[in-house]
Amino acid sequence: MGNIIAIVGRPNVGKSTLFNRLTESSHAIVKEVSGVTRDRIYGRGEWNGIPFSVIDTGGYVKGSEDIFEGEIRKQVEIAIEEANVILFVVDATTGIVDLDETVAGILRKSKKKVLVIANKVDNNDRVGMSAEFWSFGLGEVFDLSAANGSGTGEILDEVVQYF
Ligand code: GDP
Ligand code: MG
Repeated sequence: MGNIIAIVGRPNVGKSTLFNRLTESSHAIVKEVSGVTRDRIYGRGEWNGIPFSVIDTGGYVKGSEDIFEGEIRKQVEIAIEEANVILFVVDATTGIVDLDETVAGILRKSKKKVLVIANKVDNNDRVGMSAEFWSFGLGEVFDLSAANGSGTGEILDEVVQYF
């Protein structure tokens, strides 16, 4: 098994919006795992002719503010287990919050390739807002607007190098 991208991050950063963007051109077959769990969603996409699978580890958890740290930990561990490349999504408009640090800490200990995705960089005025995410120590930070699509191509160009 290869070419698997997992999207991780706390609620409301834009994981599902990114998932929809990565799978939009491929008439994605989106399915729940075995109907038992609703905690992650699988879809398919392709980039420059390279097919891939995407896992939205946030699943159907709809922006709940009261999500437990344990739940996030489980989602990140699933991503580390199942994916070749992990997209760690954070929100450039809020900056780093505690749950982001929790996720970053788990990812630092894994050997999986991680890209830090600073989402909601919708326009040039927001470009400088993603600089603080370099402090995770997870490498390059990629600006994205999952809402309008800008940055998606650069991210996919990078991702496919790790398949
Ligand atoms: P998730 O909980 O991480 O799956 O986040 P969602 O994809 O459900 O998005 C949470 C909220 O952020 C929604 O209101 C989205 O419309 C909004 N959102 C997602 N991506 C962007 C973006 O690139 N820019 C802006 N301004 N809002 C976004
Ligand atoms: Mg979601």
